[in-house]
Amino acid sequence: ATMPPLLSAIANAGRHGVLVKSAVVLERLGASSVVAFDKTGTLTEGTPRVTEVRILPGVVGSDSELLALAASAENPSEHLLARAVVAAAHKAGLSLEHAEEFSALPGRGVRARVAGRLVEVGSPAHLLGTTEPDDVVVTDVASLELDGQTAVVVRVDGRVAGVVGLADHLRPGAAQAVEQIATLTGTGPVVLTGDNPRAARRIASQLGITDVHAGLLPHEKVDAVRALEAGGHKVMLVGDGINDAPALAAAHTGLAMGRAGSDLALQTADAVIVRDDLSTIPAIIALSRRARRLVT
Ligand code: ADP
Ligand code: MG
Repeated sequence: ATMPPLLSAIANAGRHGVLVKSAVVLERLGASSVVAFDKTGTLTEGTPRVTEVRILPGVVGSDSELLALAASAENPSEHLLARAVVAAAHKAGLSLEHAEEFSALPGRGVRARVAGRLVEVGSPAHLLGTTEPDDVVVTDVASLELDGQTAVVVRVDGRVAGVVGLADHLRPGAAQAVEQIATLTGTGPVVLTGDNPRAARRIASQLGITDVHAGLLPHEKVDAVRALEAGGHKVMLVGDGINDAPALAAAHTGLAMGRAGSDLALQTADAVIVRDDLSTIPAIIALSRRARRLVT
């Protein structure tokens, strides 16, 4: 039997590794005029590793103590950075304490009580903003970020105790996908990330992306999408995190990474990149355009 063109295109998309949730979505994908990428877990593999632990004198006694406190506070979190901090602590043979009163602030970090102490782990922008920024911390953070790494700050009972550096790898094929997308849409892809501007620009430049919006909270990713759409664009947003969910919903089409993706991102997205392979994006845009020509 012959399937209607859109249905056969949906099946075809599935074979290419993109699970499209409806025929309407399949039609929309081909109309994308710009693709906006989240960075961590989307352009990068999302398996960051702790590269450095640096303490400031006077708050905790050693690197190990800092890492153990940070990992204990991060333990309940499903964030990729949290998983990396916990993995590093396990690898160092440290035992973790129970985290009480745990809370996660999307795009900012986590806080919890660990053995009676209030431990906060999160972005320098948020954790250094409310204390006197210490020159040594600021320098540590800057040198990690200029290297393309993510620096997270650890505060204990309100005092900056140290910095943890985390590095991630670019996804293989990301640069080629970016180039093909730019050719297809006529516009270079953009990056919308909650991570710091220095690391974001470093990663983007390795992919030939010049339009970078960093330090964004989840609702600011939505604002960035709306600003592009107000400028006449049809935005395809590609993301993996809980922090991407509002923007995935706001975009003309939202695509979630199937493996790296959080449940919320997968539920909110219009389509899922099943094996996290970015080369499926130009393929799906081209496929949708062919299907549109067949239907209209
Ligand atoms: P992205 O947009 O790059 O996927 P997020 O919005 O999830 O990033 O996070 C933005 C920033 O907030 C991170 O770079 C980090 O500094 C901080 N952050 C968020 N969650 C955590 C966490 N669980 N532990 C440490 N830092 C965090
Ligand atoms: Mg992400």
